[in-house]
Order: sequence, then C-alpha cells, then structure tokens
Amino acid sequence: MNDKPNKLITDDGLRLDGRRADEIRPMKIEIGVLSRADGSCYLEWGRNKILVGVFGPREAHPRRLQRADAAVIRYRYNMASFSVEDRARPGPSRRSIEISKVSREAFEPVIMAELYPKTAIDIFVEILQADAGTRTAAINASSIALADAGIPMKGLVTSCAFGKVDGQIVLDLNKEEDNYGEADFPVAMTQDGEITLLQMDGHLTPEEIKKGFELVKKGCKEILEIQQTVLRKKFETPVEEPEAEPEAKIVDTESEAAETEPSLEYAPEAAAVEETIEEAEELEAEPSEEVTETVPEAEELEEIVKEAEVEVVDGEAIEEAIEAETEEEAIEAETEEEAIEAETEEEAIEAETEEEAIEAETEEEAIEAETEEEAIEAETEEEAIEAEDESKGPWKVVKDPSESGSRGENDE
Ligand code: ADP
Repeated sequence: MNDKPNKLITDDGLRLDGRRADEIRPMKIEIGVLSRADGSCYLEWGRNKILVGVFGPREAHPRRLQRADAAVIRYRYNMASFSVEDRARPGPSRRSIEISKVSREAFEPVIMAELYPKTAIDIFVEILQADAGTRTAAINASSIALADAGIPMKGLVTSCAFGKVDGQIVLDLNKEEDNYGEADFPVAMTQDGEITLLQMDGHLTPEEIKKGFELVKKGCKEILEIQQTVLRKKFETPVEEPEAEPEAKIVDTESEAAETEPSLEYAPEAAAVEETIEEAEELEAEPSEEVTETVPEAEELEEIVKEAEVEVVDGEAIEEAIEAETEEEAIEAETEEEAIEAETEEEAIEAETEEEAIEAETEEEAIEAETEEEAIEAETEEEAIEAEDESKGPWKVVKDPSESGSRGENDE
C-alpha cells in the first residue's frame, strides 16, 4: 500500500488525477456483452472495471422465496480476488453482503416487480478491478443491464459519491481520496431525483452534506446522459428522413437563383438586353400587316384541324360501323354455318333414311328373292318329287310280280 501523499488537492484546486472538485472520472459503458444473460453491461469508471449480468424475470428458486404479488429482486455484489491490490478473500463477506442489500434496495423503487409475481430478477455484479466507488459504479452498470434485459422500470438509477478530502467537498472519490480522505458519501437516485441509496462513512456537517448533494446531483445528471446515450445507441431505430419534395427543391433553386443574380457591375449589358426584349414585345403587340395576314391562315388552320377532328370522329364512326358490320357478318356467317350444318344434318338424316329405305328395299327384295328362291326351290322340289314319282312308277310295277312278268323273266 502506498504512503499517504502530502496533498490530495493541489493549491490550484486540482486533485491527484487532475480533476477539479466537481468532476467525475471518465466513464465508458458497453451494453449486451454477455450472450447468456438477458441483459448485461461492462462499465469502466476511472480505474474501476465492472461486469453485470441480469437474468430474469424467471421462476424463483427455492420456491419459498417466491412472492405471490411481485418478482423477487436479488442483487449479488462480488469482488474478484484479483480486483484489489491485496488479494481479496473469495466468497461473500460482511462488506459484500451489505453492498448487495443496499444496492438491491436502490432498485426496488424503480423496478416494476409487481408485473412478474412468483419470479426472480437476478443481478450479478462482478468487480474485476476496484479503485473506490465500486458500489456506485455497480449500480450505474446494473441500471444499464436491467434496461438491456427489458425489465420494466420507472426510470434509470444513477449513482455517484461525494466526500471530503483535505477539508474540501469533492465529487466521485478515487482510491487515494477514499483511503486518506475524511468522508465518503455514496448516493443513488432515480432520474426524477428521488434518492434510493444514501450512506455515509466519516463525519460531515449539514452544510457539507448540502454542498455535497449539489455536486452529486450534477454528477448523476452527467452519468444519466451517458447511460441514455448508450441505450439510445443500442435500441433507437434509425428513422429515415423523407426525401425533400421536388417543389421545395425548385423553391430553393429559385431562391438560389435570386441570391446569385448578376451584380450591378453587369448592369449596362443587362439594360441593353432588357431593351431588346421590350422592343420585341412591342413589335408583337402592334397589329402589323403580316400579323393580319396570318390571321386567316390561322383560321384556315383551325378549320382544317376541326375537319380533321371531324374526320377523326368519322373515322371512329367508320371503325365502329366496320366493327358492327364485321359483327353482323360474323353473326350471318355463324347463322350460315349453322344453316349449313342444319342442312347437312337434314341431308344426313335424309341420306340415312334413304340408306335405311334402300336397305329396307334390299331387304324386301332379298326377302322376295328368298321367297322366290324358296318358291323355285319348292317348285323344283315338287318337280323333283314328281320326277321321283315318275321314276318310281315303273319300279312299283316291278314290285308287283303279278303285274309285271319281267321279274319272273329275270328269275328265270
Ligand atoms: P466502494 O468500492 O463502494 O467505495 P468501499 O468504500 O468499501 O466500497 O471500498 C473502497 C475501496 O477499497 C474499494 O473500491 C476497493 O478498492 C478497496 N477494497 C475494498 N475491499 C477490499 C479488500 N477486501 N481488500 C483490498 N481492498 C479492498
């Protein structure tokens, strides 16, 4: 441990680290540094280095710790053994338990725990490097980590300490000032100025406390601005500005043109140009012969244009008529086609009828023919029978031996 310096504040009012009495140490904040935490923050404040992880709201374990009406807020301040010059004894100490308690109470007024009954919101603080004011630094970092976790809060909590060094009230004590100073007074407040933490180590008069509070308010305001800047940077959605309307541009151009009008140095030339323009305008205004001659031409032109318009109208009418005719023709054609189809069908029917008739006739003829054939056959059969009978006749005679002696002649 270093020996006490002769003076903590020089004659010109500067402190050992070059700050004035009302200045805070430089602060650097990183948000969302732990991927497994719901919200996290890494904060450097002077030579303090602090890491905070927020978990929750999540189911509170053990269950006996659960609150039916609100979330349980748990705050664990832990100092790494390597965070101080002499090795810090690992695990909870009276000091770390005390800091955890007062820091939790600093957040209870702002965290809307009633929205999450039976749950727990855990805030884990790891002091990686300590250089006085670690509880205030941890509160500032926790505020950011809670916001990063999306825990509903009435506002951010900021914290800063003031103290008495060499008989002077100073803001945000560093390690030497804390060690060899007369008093240390950490404060935490909401952004509305409500005090949520107030501790005092040492002896201070009411006037000194009053003066110290003025410094703390200033310090907390500066810290709040840093916190808000960090949060805005992470969560604010960039709003695309609408493109400037062309009219506005024209106006601008006009105004620019008006601004960049030729100076009086060019006045003679400008006057000459203006005169020429005026003369031209006068000539146009005078009713000259040429102009009067052009009037009938213009009328003629108008008439031509009107005729053309009429023609155009006629043309449209013709087109419509053509369309109508085409439609009629199409209808006629369709009717003709239908008629042809109908005729073809009729013819087909007729043809079928004729065919059927022919077939019928053929059948009839065939029947007749068959009948005739049958008749012929019948006749032929009859004739054949008759022929048979005729041929059989002599044999019958032969059968009767008494009637024919030929048999007897053959037997002989
Ligand atoms: P805070 O850090 O909030 O100011 P304290 O006033 O209790 O809290 O501590 C002041 C400083 O003393 C700490 O920031 C730290 O640098 C140092 N310190 C605290 N505890 C120990 C310890 N166990 N061993 C060595 N140094 C310590």
